[in-house]
Amino acid sequence: MTTISSTTLLTIWENSAVQPPVRRALSLLAPFFSDQELAELPIGTRNAMLLMVREWLFGTRMDCVVHCPQCATRLEFTLSTTDVRALAPTTTVHQLEFAGQRFTFRLPTSADLLALNPDAATSRHLIERCLLAAPATASTEALAAVAAAMVQADPLLDLQIALRCPECDHTWMAPFDVMTFVWREVDSWAQRLLRDVHTLAKAYGWCERDILALSPRRRAWYLRLVHYERSTG
Ligand SMILES: [Zn+2]
Repeated sequence: MTTISSTTLLTIWENSAVQPPVRRALSLLAPFFSDQELAELPIGTRNAMLLMVREWLFGTRMDCVVHCPQCATRLEFTLSTTDVRALAPTTTVHQLEFAGQRFTFRLPTSADLLALNPDAATSRHLIERCLLAAPATASTEALAAVAAAMVQADPLLDLQIALRCPECDHTWMAPFDVMTFVWREVDSWAQRLLRDVHTLAKAYGWCERDILALSPRRRAWYLRLVHYERSTG
């Protein structure tokens, strides 16, 4: 297992809190992978790497919660990081024939998303940017077909999970955004860690740096002792 120090992860969390999701994804991967290459990887490949880091941090099992769009029943389901990672694309350049026209496209990358003005980051701009060879004029339908082919070639671009509500039998496809999921976990982890730092600093008078330098196991033991003393105090 590859490790990342609590201090490093906490710094990434702090610096990335106000960043757009693409920047957050690259920041989380920065301690493990080279920066320039990362931005040029297909988004699905980058997301697979994010899930690998997520495995190192929190394990392979992802507990997910959604609400039925029809009756609002709360549904829980689990995904495995290894299953999702297996969907990462293997080739970056693809071809499509549509209505007698031939399109050659590459898969979108983080660099593409960063290069687009957020207000203008429509899928049309993204698709046009990723076209390597295309007829001089392409219809909206043709570009939509290219977009569909992109998602087929890189399912992690727009991963959809088939779900069925046990209460009302409604079936639907729920989007699963890797970055949003992983960031939410890192955010919860950071908030828990800061609470633990607060508890230990208050109980022992230690400074933040020393508390973060403790191994998670040792921190947990001191916290247990603090809580034990409080409960018997
Ligand atoms: Zn329902």
